[in-house]
Amino acid sequence: MSLYDSLGVRKLINAFDTATVYGGSRMSSGVLDAMAEASKCFVDLNELHEKAGRRVAELTRNEAAYITSGAAAGLLLAVAACMTGNVVEMLDRLPDTSGMCNEIILKTSQKIAWTVCARQTGAKLVAIGTKSTATEAELELVIREKTAAILYFAGVFPETDGLPLEKVIEVARRHRIPVIVDAAAQIPPVENFWRFTAMGADLVIFSGGKGLRGPQCSGLILGKKELIAACAANGSPNCRIGRASKIGKEEIAGLLTAVEEFVHADHEQIRKKFEEWIQHLREELSSSGQIALSAIYRDSPGITYPRARLTLQNGKTKAEVVAQLRDGNPSIVVDGNDESGNSILLNFFNLNESELDVVIGRLKEILAGGR
Ligand SMILES: *Cc1c(COP(=O)(O)O)cnc(C)c1O
Repeated sequence: MSLYDSLGVRKLINAFDTATVYGGSRMSSGVLDAMAEASKCFVDLNELHEKAGRRVAELTRNEAAYITSGAAAGLLLAVAACMTGNVVEMLDRLPDTSGMCNEIILKTSQKIAWTVCARQTGAKLVAIGTKSTATEAELELVIREKTAAILYFAGVFPETDGLPLEKVIEVARRHRIPVIVDAAAQIPPVENFWRFTAMGADLVIFSGGKGLRGPQCSGLILGKKELIAACAANGSPNCRIGRASKIGKEEIAGLLTAVEEFVHADHEQIRKKFEEWIQHLREELSSSGQIALSAIYRDSPGITYPRARLTLQNGKTKAEVVAQLRDGNPSIVVDGNDESGNSILLNFFNLNESELDVVIGRLKEILAGGR
């Protein structure tokens, strides 16, 4: 009996996404082995952080890197670093930011839930523009002595609101203000490891437990040496603002291995495999006459692997199908939040072939009117 069975916890087939609530992504055996290996003896965490960070920086073509317990922790540490720099008195004082540059500018359209991690440091968020627009002039207007950084979420569209990242970086450079890019879920494509820093971003954040398939509690900050040092100074094992988001030696080893595997992986091959799966789904499901199937890609920057959109025709609503998949045995989670109509989205990233067959079988049963 597995641990989950003994607890009475339902196992899920995850055709949704690399969502934290469903457990993120699957680690490779290489990553798991690295974690087991790392657990066998003791090391000085500061030394491991420094040397593993250096290796990650090389692999990702960056000046420096810091391994965190997640992209959320990365946000916290990056914002803290831009306020404190390497000044000990300030490092020791957070989240009391009195007298510091403590304002973080962002677009109203990008005031997403994760910004709580920026606020945890004591920083104050200053939002510009509306839910769909922002301009250079609005940005210029709020930059002042107290500005610590500009925060930009690379995965939040539209990119076409009048203030793209290129423009933000140009303005920030003029005022000598650092730009933090949260690109947590923007891996793959692998080029994003160096694309944003090459554009001029000072710190770029990635999740380790999403597209990278590293440990669920891991993440990365890439960027400028001095700011990365300030991230480390704010982070564990130091008893400072980042202490509650500590990462252990096992996750550091796992994340480093995941980055190594990722930069050498054949992503084109993975994309082709998922395209074949979409064709297989089409063959299996189209005879029902109740589904129209299309492949969708998110525009750059974003995940480059295709997903499948199943549009339900003359039959059930997407809410019914999502609930039936979720309540069945085995339980299957899919994305029912597609705004394009009565359709559900399947993400193949966390599926293996036998799980794909289970998903197809259940969909056939449901479309045939069964439960
Ligand atoms: C997922 C995500 C995070 C959090 O990542 P974790 O690695 O789970 O901490 C932060 N920001 C954005 C934009 C994300 O999509």
